[in-house]
Amino acid sequence: MTEHRVPPPSVSGVDVDEKTRCEHYHSDLDIIAIRLKCCGEFYACKECHDVLADHPLESWPRTAFDTRAILCGNCSAQLTISAYLECNSRCPECAAEFNPRCSLHHHFYFSDV
Ligand SMILES: [Zn+2]
Ligand SMILES: [Zn+2]
Ligand SMILES: [Zn+2]
Repeated sequence: MTEHRVPPPSVSGVDVDEKTRCEHYHSDLDIIAIRLKCCGEFYACKECHDVLADHPLESWPRTAFDTRAILCGNCSAQLTISAYLECNSRCPECAAEFNPRCSLHHHFYFSDV
């Protein structure tokens, strides 16, 4: 059984659909969810975490970039943070395009990016 065939984890968020899009980010490209360091839960985006969690968001330190914290909403592959940051906004498993503008928000999720 390969890594990406395990059942997808549940993703928290506001109006999350089957491709992990939420109320805040719901274009065809907004198909990743991020596991957050503070609670270990997958969230559709940080705004969803702001609404639903009872604690402040914590970003991943660079030393944890080998954590499989990125979920592709298209194929359910769980990517490491490093793999995601190097993927040029395209899933290495299924080649689905990710929203390139997400990189504007990386500093909320990952330290030193
Ligand atoms: Zn949290
Ligand atoms: Zn959201
Ligand atoms: Zn994928």
